[in-house]
Amino acid sequence: MKNAKSLIVGNWKMNGLRQDIDQILAIGASLKENPIDGEVVICPPATLTALAVDAVTNLPVKIGGQDCHAAKAGAYTGDISAEKWKDIGAKYVIVGHSERRESYSEDNISVRSKAKAVLDAGLIPIICIGESLSERDSGETLSVLTKQVRECVPEEAKKGSIAIGYEPVWAIGSGKTPSVDDISEAHSLIRHVLTEEIGDRSKVTPIIYGGSMKPSNASEILAIDGVDGGLVGGASLKAEDFLSIIRAS
Ligand code: PEP
Repeated sequence: MKNAKSLIVGNWKMNGLRQDIDQILAIGASLKENPIDGEVVICPPATLTALAVDAVTNLPVKIGGQDCHAAKAGAYTGDISAEKWKDIGAKYVIVGHSERRESYSEDNISVRSKAKAVLDAGLIPIICIGESLSERDSGETLSVLTKQVRECVPEEAKKGSIAIGYEPVWAIGSGKTPSVDDISEAHSLIRHVLTEEIGDRSKVTPIIYGGSMKPSNASEILAIDGVDGGLVGGASLKAEDFLSIIRAS
């Protein structure tokens, strides 16, 4: 059973130049001609976000930011607040990505503050969670995910809209993916804990899978019970690949 509207998110990370806006235009044009029943979001690097927002005017693609600061404004050189993302027309913000957790020592508490800031700005946080390889190997996957949902989802999510990205850290950019049963088990656990945390809002919260999703495995993963969409890194950079993932949803 699908719980929420399908959501496919492309995370470009620190990739893409101005010329790559053409990829976004190609995705938008294809979706306009042949719409899907769901939402498509692209999160380019910050340098391209405003350009991307302009490019998708009148196209069925939303633009998101990658990460934000928890404060609204202030002396935080190099940071971008959720308010700033809103100001340029972004609709979503990825928070808690494992690359941020690892490179910038972000913990669940800071992820929760960022998710709250995104909700306060009227945008939708895509809250990323996922176990590391050592946590998986020691059988801690479900307890890690439970703790992450409890600690990263802010109180405000009882009223506002959020999405959860389940991304096993060891699957990101590795070409490896969990088994269908493992993905299904993780998503059902996340839904259960989310319901304990935010009640009925859980029913309309997309829980999307991320980690080495590509055209060749997208239909199998996206058909799994409880998987409401995908969070796609490398395979979102080229319109052709990303469109075939979108069309598999
Ligand atoms: C990601 O980093 O969010 C991601 C899912 O990356 P990839 O698809 O390249 O594994």
